[in-house]
Amino acid sequence: MQMGLAAGAASVFPQSLLAQDKAAAASDSGARLVLLGTKGGPRVGGSRSNPANALVVDDAVYVIDTGMGVSAQFVKAGLDFRKLRAIFISHMHSDHELELGNFVYNSWVTNSFTKPVDVYGPVGIEDMVRDYWALNRIDIETRIADEGRVDPRPLLHGHDMAFEKRQVMQDDKVTVSALPTPHKPLQNFAYRFDTPYGSVVYSGDTSFYPPLADFAKGADILVHEVLYEPGVDALTKRARGGEAFRAHIMNAHSTTGQVGQIAAMAGVKTLVLSHFVPGDMDWITDDMWREGAARHFQGEIIAGHDLQEIPLS
Ligand SMILES: [Zn+2]
Ligand SMILES: [Zn+2]
Repeated sequence: MQMGLAAGAASVFPQSLLAQDKAAAASDSGARLVLLGTKGGPRVGGSRSNPANALVVDDAVYVIDTGMGVSAQFVKAGLDFRKLRAIFISHMHSDHELELGNFVYNSWVTNSFTKPVDVYGPVGIEDMVRDYWALNRIDIETRIADEGRVDPRPLLHGHDMAFEKRQVMQDDKVTVSALPTPHKPLQNFAYRFDTPYGSVVYSGDTSFYPPLADFAKGADILVHEVLYEPGVDALTKRARGGEAFRAHIMNAHSTTGQVGQIAAMAGVKTLVLSHFVPGDMDWITDDMWREGAARHFQGEIIAGHDLQEIPLS
């Protein structure tokens, strides 16, 4: 087969290039959500990476949370660092922001970080951006001087946001708004992305919170964190935690049933379960994750997997 391709290369090549261009043009139109990491919590390993997502709208990419592993997952998903426009951080638990600086660095070191990128999140994001550059000053200044690279520091703009409902930003592809939700002892931002192709709402980490349903009203896709109660018992045992440990997890997150209630109240088309807690116990099947939500929500329910792509249509 390879020989055949080689033999016909002279005549076929321009045609195939044309086909590739067409495919590239087609794939640059439309919107899709890419689940980069679907495991809740900071523990690494297992079959899921830590929380991260990408929303692709035409030729623009928006990243939502940057848990450990986001850079590798972004590359595995075939996404292009050069198309990155903005990053949104839900809250300051490390499973959502640990790789923020390194993600941007990995873009820079492949000469893909040439345009400004905004990072939105709770108070602390501006410090995190500044401190990241300080932490890596020697490497960065060496590469600027030695390899002639552009200085990445003025290109990354952190935006601390106080916890209140707000419009975050708007460009030609998307309007983004944020809603504070309870996530003891922190607070969290849920984000809503309204695009020409439909709307996506991302819950971040939250306990059961009916105002989130209003915020997600009529969205095409609701990505909601989820915990499986029998799994929490196993998690508590593995961590040798007591009642306080179990209560902490239960109070800060949403059960499968509660997630189904929010999706039903919001009237979304598709519910995507993600940020699985526990996310590394493979005896919990997709059906087990969906079951509790399906008792309340009649629409499509997707038990998300890493690198899964969900089109907006
Ligand atoms: Zn989390
Ligand atoms: Zn959290």
